[in-house]
Amino acid sequence: MAVEPIKIAVIGDGGVGKSACTIRFVKNQFHEQYDPTIEQTYSTTVETEEFGSLPVEIIDTAGQDDYENFRSVSISYGQAFLLVFAITSHKTFEKMESMLVEAKEDAPKIVIGNKSDLSADRKVSVAEVEAWCKERGFKYFETSAKNNINVREAFVDLVQQAAKKRQHT
Ligand code: GDP
Ligand code: MG
Repeated sequence: MAVEPIKIAVIGDGGVGKSACTIRFVKNQFHEQYDPTIEQTYSTTVETEEFGSLPVEIIDTAGQDDYENFRSVSISYGQAFLLVFAITSHKTFEKMESMLVEAKEDAPKIVIGNKSDLSADRKVSVAEVEAWCKERGFKYFETSAKNNINVREAFVDLVQQAAKKRQHT
């Protein structure tokens, strides 16, 4: 019997690196430029110790303004959520609060502080994010899609949480 893919929605403010992290994970590539308006779905397979090989579908959400509705529709498909902000912008950290409203409440979620390679320009302290995450029971990863730091670890952790949850429902 074919296993249903685990559906992950990648959400966060514009420009934080949602597409960069997704493409780093799926294709192990980094580009300087991604179309900020295109919402795209990727299929891949993730190897886990506990559950073996799992099919995963990732929705790289996009857009503000005109695309806002489109995005909330796609968010409703997610069974697990990767909340992304950039450590170089405090506004993108604050934005996660409102994004959470759109994500299914009982779905597994993890938080990514991306652009860790730009730490000289850091605007969000680790302590601040960790406090925010602890309150909500989310794990926190600092990533650099550019330098390939922690991106795989974050996605795999989320897939494992989602697989565990599915096993119990
Ligand atoms: P999205 O709107 O959230 O999908 O953001 P993008 O993935 O399009 O990235 C926005 C910009 O940030 C692009 O110019 C990327 O090259 C850049 N970017 C993404 N991730 C990183 C990163 O880890 N480090 C640095 N320095 N730049 C990044
Ligand atoms: Mg994008």
